[in-house]
Amino acid sequence: MNEIKTLNSGEKYAHASVGQLHEFEGKQFVKDSTGATSCEISFGSLPNGEAVPFFHSHKENEENYIILSGAGKFQVDGDVFDVAEGSVIRVSTKCDRNLKCTSEVPMTYVCIQAKEGRLGGYTMTDAEITERENLL
Ligand code: ZN
Repeated sequence: MNEIKTLNSGEKYAHASVGQLHEFEGKQFVKDSTGATSCEISFGSLPNGEAVPFFHSHKENEENYIILSGAGKFQVDGDVFDVAEGSVIRVSTKCDRNLKCTSEVPMTYVCIQAKEGRLGGYTMTDAEITERENLL
């Protein structure tokens, strides 16, 4: 099981890491390490032939799964479909979901959980180009 580490933080940010993804195992939630207020992010990894040991649903939060490596099957209620590295799967509230790794390499994924129907302004309707000295 990996440990998440807070690497550095400031008044307006926090930087945490679960480390090398090819070595990542199990499940790790991120919110407590970054202090996020808009969503919960988790990293997960399943070895070949393994599924999450239970189905679950959410009352208010939708989930967006991003498959970072490997491949497998995803089930939402009675629907099953193939997923692979690069897949992004949005799952609504009030339905059951699970995923299973079928590839030789572990299936590593990120899940972002946020209140369903609450996304208002985003990207350029929320962002502003600002003037700042580039220190990079
Ligand atoms: Zn969930």
